[in-house]
Amino acid sequence: MVVERLNHKWARAKLPKLGWVAFRWTRSLGGQVRSATVSRRNGHWFVSFLVDDGAVTPEHHAGAPVGIDRGVAVAATTSTGDFHDREFITPGEAERYRRLQHKLARAKKGSRNHARVRAAMNRTMGRVTARRAGFCAQSAHQLTTRHNVIVLEDLRTKNMTASASGTMDKPGKNVAQKRGLNRAILDKGWHRLELALRNAARYTGTEIVLVNAAYTSQTCNVCKVVDAKSRKSQAVFACTACGHQAHADVNAARNILNAAGLAVSACGDLGVGRSVKQEPSGPREAVPDQPVLAGIPRH
Ligand SMILES: [Zn+2]
Repeated sequence: MVVERLNHKWARAKLPKLGWVAFRWTRSLGGQVRSATVSRRNGHWFVSFLVDDGAVTPEHHAGAPVGIDRGVAVAATTSTGDFHDREFITPGEAERYRRLQHKLARAKKGSRNHARVRAAMNRTMGRVTARRAGFCAQSAHQLTTRHNVIVLEDLRTKNMTASASGTMDKPGKNVAQKRGLNRAILDKGWHRLELALRNAARYTGTEIVLVNAAYTSQTCNVCKVVDAKSRKSQAVFACTACGHQAHADVNAARNILNAAGLAVSACGDLGVGRSVKQEPSGPREAVPDQPVLAGIPRH
């Protein structure tokens, strides 16, 4: 693959079948180009290069393990009490998107107007998506630089709340219409963050561990008692058994971190690596095999 820098702003690449294609030089490639992918998004053409940068994943990482709670109110909270969050869609953009949705509903399918409204919607969402991607990359860089092990909930086991589809008893209204906007507001890019972490981890030697984290938001990190009533509000956790108080997301992130230690001690190494066995800083607690249930936890 031949890539040539033309000037400060432009470069060109010789692609199979297409020949020379000029593109805006937005970042240095930093390695041997292996392949190129041309794509079209929101009315713009993009080219991306797969590059072999020759980087080797380091063997040793000086940082300590961390647990991460991925939430709806705050995108990511760490067991050390750091909050990673930003607004992906501005109130103005949400309002504009809502208006465009109504316009689209009135426009005749297949008409020029319909296509124009659709394109305007895609432009708005394109900005939101780009913001989310940038946030995930930045957070992933910070987290992998600081920590040798990152423990996340396995999203397949996470109880997804807040949905427009409502429940069996209370079905939601305008489900299809709300979905696009809700996704933009509520979607904190959990899966994308996981991908970004895995990508960044290859450069720092950080290990990414997934745990099944049932009841992490209802379990007291100090006495391990599970009680739905301990979760006083979105932000406040106050244990009904021992009185321990913490930010609800930080408490959950600490439980997630503990869940990784539990998996290792219960079943030997599990292939998650020696580093997980290091105890996280903070008070050491006896970890019971089963959570202690006080009252019936609500799902
Ligand atoms: Zn407690």
